[in-house]
Amino acid sequence: MNQVYIGIGSNQNHPHFRVQRAFKQINRIHETRLIRKSSLYETVPLGPKFQPNFINAVVEIETMLSPNKLLEELQLLEKNHNRKKTKRWGPRSLDLDILIYEQVIMDTEKLIIPHPGLKYREFVLIPLYEITSYGYKVPKYGNINKLIKNL
Ligand code: ADP
Ligand code: MG
Repeated sequence: MNQVYIGIGSNQNHPHFRVQRAFKQINRIHETRLIRKSSLYETVPLGPKFQPNFINAVVEIETMLSPNKLLEELQLLEKNHNRKKTKRWGPRSLDLDILIYEQVIMDTEKLIIPHPGLKYREFVLIPLYEITSYGYKVPKYGNINKLIKNL
């Protein structure tokens, strides 16, 4: 089993409800189970300001799926939340990002792991901090306590 952290975000159409539904849907992905989930965090949007606040959370899962296969499954979930492709950092019903996949470091056209936004996004680091042990080391970027201090 591979230990993976996923970042969840929503700021459209009942975001609390959507994030909670995403917890259940992630647990239902084949060869995958939900291990731990963070609290829900309300955050101010990055980029364009004239949009609702986001609800963010991070979950830990165990999965037998490869990074690319897992991404496909997460993109299916995003689609079935009627996510319309709008502008970058714009409003969205559901955004699911693979933050960390075991100790994997990869950089392909489709998939960058660890997620490159992770190190400067407090709406990722704080929930990740909540569900990892003290001094957890993020692959490539190092100690989470230091990352948070640097925000
Ligand atoms: P963001 O999540 O940065 O706000 P998008 O969700 O719109 O932006 O980006 C989607 C694209 O990002 C997808 O086409 C996917 O291939 C790519 N991508 C690269 N790395 C990752 C990752 N670690 N997790 C999810 N998507 C990723
Ligand atoms: Mg995304």
